[in-house]
Amino acid sequence: MIVKLKQEFDKQNVMNLISWFEKKDLQIVETKGENSIVLSIIGDTRMINETSVKAFDCVDSVYRIQEPYKEANIKYHKDKAVVKVKDIEIGGKDFVVMAGPCSVESREQVLEVAKKVKESGANILRGGAFKPRTSPYSFQGMGQEGIEYLLEAKEATGLPIVSEIMDIDDLPYFEDVDILQVGARNMQNFSLLKKLGSVDKPILLKRGLSATYEELLMSAEYLMAWGNENIILCERGIRTFETGVRNILDITAVPYLRTRTQLPIIIDPSHASGAWELVEPLSMAATAVGSDGLIVEVHNNPEKALCDGSQSLKPKKFDHMMKKISIMKKALKEIEELDE
Ligand code: PEP
Ligand code: MN
Repeated sequence: MIVKLKQEFDKQNVMNLISWFEKKDLQIVETKGENSIVLSIIGDTRMINETSVKAFDCVDSVYRIQEPYKEANIKYHKDKAVVKVKDIEIGGKDFVVMAGPCSVESREQVLEVAKKVKESGANILRGGAFKPRTSPYSFQGMGQEGIEYLLEAKEATGLPIVSEIMDIDDLPYFEDVDILQVGARNMQNFSLLKKLGSVDKPILLKRGLSATYEELLMSAEYLMAWGNENIILCERGIRTFETGVRNILDITAVPYLRTRTQLPIIIDPSHASGAWELVEPLSMAATAVGSDGLIVEVHNNPEKALCDGSQSLKPKKFDHMMKKISIMKKALKEIEELDE
């Protein structure tokens, strides 16, 4: 961390600042330039908040050199993290496709969709039982009953399941759920993150609607600092000035985050667009940009869906998309060979 002092300052205030850093076991190196004095703060500055430094009268500006996250930082974890779910390797050799309805609506619905997506090559079944809805009058999900139907579908197909948890009190219902999803709206629910940090299950952490990359990584850091290393990041579209689509898929997130973190990154083309017609092209783009996988909404009868029908693919369309993705994967292998 670099601290630039004001041109005119009170000496005692600088002494106070220096001893404030020293009490935190940090070393201070002073450099006197022609017009200004700069303090270099050496050591682990993760726990230093810039605003606390700026609170000293003598400080002109503060620059962070070290990222404020360590567990989720590629600098300290050179090997790509692989999250294992049964024999599936997310972030490893597999391109993992999680697919299924936005919400579990009935036993028949989830069983039918699960069988279809499995036939098309999906690796993991998705389905929400506890739903974060903007309106309190919208369908809120089937709750515990929904999880039971998901578990029946898991049993019938052998597909592991991923489902969203909104409240830590619901954790007992998730005992046999393979991956816990933290939704976009809860990305910065820090008390939930801390509690999920001590849960022995992988977490699918979705990027908040207007969260920066660093904020997403800091939320992953919460989970990791509290003990959970099995984190999968998910870019699911962000809010911009555009009103033509539900959200804008930030494709840049994948190559950018690769330079910052060892964690796997998948893309959700369904929430990113809000429109089923856009799901296939965005999934192709996500595959091409090097995502570790996808999470896609599929419904057997989107017109009757209780949630997100407009962005849900029918099983036939999903099947077609999976065929295209597998051709794209082969082409990408050839491209990767050029880089080797
Ligand atoms: C979902 O996956 O159904 C969902 C609600 O996602 P997000 O949190 O990204 O909106
Ligand atoms: Mn949804």
